[in-house]
Amino acid sequence: MLTRTVPSQPIGRFAPSPTGELHLGSFTTALASFCHIKSLGGKWLLRIEDTDIERCDRQFTDQILLDLDTLGLHWDGDVIYQSERIDIYNDYLSSALSSLTYGCQCSRKDLAEYWAQEEQRQADGNGSNKALNKKRYPRCCIAAALDRQKHKLRIQLPNYQIGFRDGIQGLQWANPQQTLGDMVVRRQDGMINYILAASLDDGLQKVTHIMRGLDILPMTTAQISIMEAARLPGIDQWYHLPLICHDDGQKLSKQNLAQPINTCNPSALIASALQLLQQPTVDTDTPENMLRQAIAQWDNTPLQGKQQLSSVNA
Ligand code: GLU
Repeated sequence: MLTRTVPSQPIGRFAPSPTGELHLGSFTTALASFCHIKSLGGKWLLRIEDTDIERCDRQFTDQILLDLDTLGLHWDGDVIYQSERIDIYNDYLSSALSSLTYGCQCSRKDLAEYWAQEEQRQADGNGSNKALNKKRYPRCCIAAALDRQKHKLRIQLPNYQIGFRDGIQGLQWANPQQTLGDMVVRRQDGMINYILAASLDDGLQKVTHIMRGLDILPMTTAQISIMEAARLPGIDQWYHLPLICHDDGQKLSKQNLAQPINTCNPSALIASALQLLQQPTVDTDTPENMLRQAIAQWDNTPLQGKQQLSSVNA
């Protein structure tokens, strides 16, 4: 991995997928990453993760940009759209990442059948009696040298423990091969998957601090290994924020139809998100002035070790 020789300005980012409007959970992530990086004197970039053309919608992108602006979350530099960067991801797949990637023709159904057969072999006493790890792709296609353009591509992830210090969740260790298996990085239809696009862009945008939701923590060791394989500068500091949950413990997400944020009263929204993030209160004012105060007071400590934050009204 390349190491930085001169201390650089901290760079953070918010990277929403426009598959819906911002909800309290994604807005809280945006707010936290903004206040945190600004409290370090850094830049806050905005990247729209819209490679999934079936699920992403330009209308959602426009609404996200409008909402962030209304809420005083002004990004630095130009917005990056991953849908316009497909050639860059493909270039990496055919250069730095080519020896680690391979074509795969296994469908979900094929894999389900494979695991069912393995289970049967074990039951018959013909297999090893180690617990089956169905998350791990059994690499059926690795030696087949399938046409890379006609099949989905998987990336070989390392089979050893990778550790990183998370500024909120503490020290983390995981073996990406055991926990994730060889992940699909490009679908058969050419669509680039999140893990590849995000890993490459974080490196190419020289992001130093990543603050994002805890739901993405399981993919972090894959991201670390992809960035390293692509010979891109690594991330200096990781922070995985507790998830915002309804008071019944259910995570707020687009999948369970979290309500879009209502920006009619931006100051009230900022105040309640800061409260949710357990930050000191700020005076009610314009969004920009409230954020200035929130940045000056920003403190990760109350979030440390927490996996979820409950929002009664979410
Ligand atoms: N695009 C992802 C999402 O909206 C965020 C990914 C990230 O921050 O790395 O959930």
